[in-house]
Amino acid sequence: IIVLDRNRDIKKELLFNINFFYLKSFKKKRFFTFSYINEPFFRGTVIFGLDFKNKMRPLNLSKIEKDGTVIPVDPLLFKRFLLSEKNKFIAFSSQTPIDDTSPVREMLNNFRFEKDKIINLTICNSCLERHKFTLLNENLKIKSYKNQIICAECAYDIVLRRIKFAGLISQEKISLKLKNFFTHMILKFKDVKKVLSAFQVNFDPYKNRDITLYDIEKAPPVSSKYINQNFENINIPTSFKRVLSGLKLSAMLPIQSMAIQNGLLTKRSNLLVMAPTSGGKTLVGELAGISRVLNEKDAKMLYLVPIVALANIRTEEFKKKYKTLKLRIIKRIGESLFEKKEEDNLQDLINADIIIATYEAIDYILRSGHKELLGNIGTIIIDEIQTLTFSDAPDAGSFELVFGAETTVPILFSEADIDVENALNNLSGLSAVSVSGDFSTGFVITFAGADGETTHPALTISNNTLEITSSPITIDVEETVKGFPPFVDTLFQAEETGPTVANTGSLTAIETPQGGVTQLTNPQDAEIGSNIETDAELKQRRKELLQRSGTATVEGIRNALLDVVDVNQALVIENTALIVDAGGRPGKSFESVVEGGADQDIADAIWASKPAGIETFGSVSVPVVDSQGFIHTINFSRATEIDIWMIVNITPNTDPAEGPLYPIDGDQQVEDVVLAFAQDFRIGQDVVVNQFFTPINTIGGVIGIEILVGTSPAPTMSDNIAIDVTERAVFDSARITVNS
Ligand SMILES: [Zn+2]
Repeated sequence: IIVLDRNRDIKKELLFNINFFYLKSFKKKRFFTFSYINEPFFRGTVIFGLDFKNKMRPLNLSKIEKDGTVIPVDPLLFKRFLLSEKNKFIAFSSQTPIDDTSPVREMLNNFRFEKDKIINLTICNSCLERHKFTLLNENLKIKSYKNQIICAECAYDIVLRRIKFAGLISQEKISLKLKNFFTHMILKFKDVKKVLSAFQVNFDPYKNRDITLYDIEKAPPVSSKYINQNFENINIPTSFKRVLSGLKLSAMLPIQSMAIQNGLLTKRSNLLVMAPTSGGKTLVGELAGISRVLNEKDAKMLYLVPIVALANIRTEEFKKKYKTLKLRIIKRIGESLFEKKEEDNLQDLINADIIIATYEAIDYILRSGHKELLGNIGTIIIDEIQTLTFSDAPDAGSFELVFGAETTVPILFSEADIDVENALNNLSGLSAVSVSGDFSTGFVITFAGADGETTHPALTISNNTLEITSSPITIDVEETVKGFPPFVDTLFQAEETGPTVANTGSLTAIETPQGGVTQLTNPQDAEIGSNIETDAELKQRRKELLQRSGTATVEGIRNALLDVVDVNQALVIENTALIVDAGGRPGKSFESVVEGGADQDIADAIWASKPAGIETFGSVSVPVVDSQGFIHTINFSRATEIDIWMIVNITPNTDPAEGPLYPIDGDQQVEDVVLAFAQDFRIGQDVVVNQFFTPINTIGGVIGIEILVGTSPAPTMSDNIAIDVTERAVFDSARITVNS
């Protein structure tokens, strides 16, 4: 059987992929049923076009070998294959548009190829790319990207790859349970994109019930023993009771008394409390957390919020609400690796009773290895609420809030939280909303009391005329806490060649929007590429190439390493003596120090170029199989990156009589020339402070230069930094400070 599918990458030519498969048997009843060997015995491409007689013919035929090499074949062979007695069928992939196949069908007609031997089959295109032939039954067709139809196995591979790529799975080996889960989703929805949508950051489980709905649990009637219970009668410190009664809270909501009767205050075990948004869960957390803080020494309450505005509001609220309890309340926000950190008052954190923090701030403390600073955490509360935030504090205009089908009266720029609260409570559907905050911090909206007993959709905004100095202000409504990590790390690469500069924080625009990606940034400077090879570079490379062939010299091995894909730098150190050298290299051995590239590619390159009988040395060991099937272990090392911090203090010229003035963007220019110079640092190259003076002096108006360098933040010395032969100094704009 000959299988034809249109190669869609090339639009202007009628190019088809062709695969010849052996059929073992076939039957035709209502459908064809085949048994076949699913690897092709011939694969290649064919281009059809008009010959000089204006007839459709195969103009070009190529065979693709197992290793990917393409060999041109006489196009007449195609016709001979086609009309050979052994060929039973020609099958078009049903994914090839009918318009693309009609010229070929016309040609088959001219060749007098029997019509009933021309069939359409649904084949997994993804398998076909991997030189396999998989026919798809109606119930096994899975929709993939670009509307391709593929098999379940290929769909599983795609799903797994994307999920790994998004960083949601890190282990290499996937458990059978997880595999079954993915396969179940694939067969249920028959749509790769839909399966993957469930793993995106902005996935809303509530709106995608066909994916998430497992069962419906009807709310059981609330037992009377949970109704109208009083805070007075529960086992919390008296001082805390006084705070609650001061807040005019006397009767507990059912969820609160249920939690208490199930051991919220007595048992030291986990308790899962589920209730609609603002159904009283936050107070459940506070009842547990505040009681523990008051009763026990060193049992902190950690209150986690999704956004900085909410941390600010909660901190003020707690300070006010719990003033009489004399609790030490501290806020941790916005500590990221990319921001300059203020001197922390660490003692404050250790001594705090309540820590209110954003996820990022806690994440930072944990990841930077300072978890002991948090001390002993007694209770963790994770909040979920609706918030309104404003792009700026307005000086004119108003806005309205929409709740279901109702709209509030206009809320003026000059109004306060109580006015927002009244506007919402005046709607017929609401009566017990509480609002705190203001236009600069944002408003936090809590659906309390009876309003908290049902789930509410996110509020929306209408008739927004808010402005500041006549520029419009945008309003953002945030509903719930999302459970996925806020950041995913990924690598990026320029599409165009050349020395493109992209310093830390400069890549922020999303060119092609992707589902789930709402913002991006680069935490490090991009490695600067090079232009396409110049004549001089080509000559140098040729020289190196000639040197390489034949004997395996140190230079030859180094050049072989530099040829490996993605290897930026390589250094080969040999020990020609018979005894171990200072670097630990055994006698008659060499160590390759490599930056970039895949381990296996590097090991293969070393094996292919190393002299026989000479040992390899290094901290990375990779097995290599030789042409006789023997396994050898090849060792090499990775260059350790040494982060360099630098402060450049410039004395600028401010007197035109003394020569050119220091430019307005001089500091930026200094940073640029320092980075450009540091870009070429090789493995093992010391950081010599004096060498930086020359590039900086190319900027006009520089009278004096002081350079401080070190391997930790805020360097104070001007000494050179020695870099070992297995290390490389790395510079980044985030670690360079220029003062003038
Ligand atoms: Zn497949």
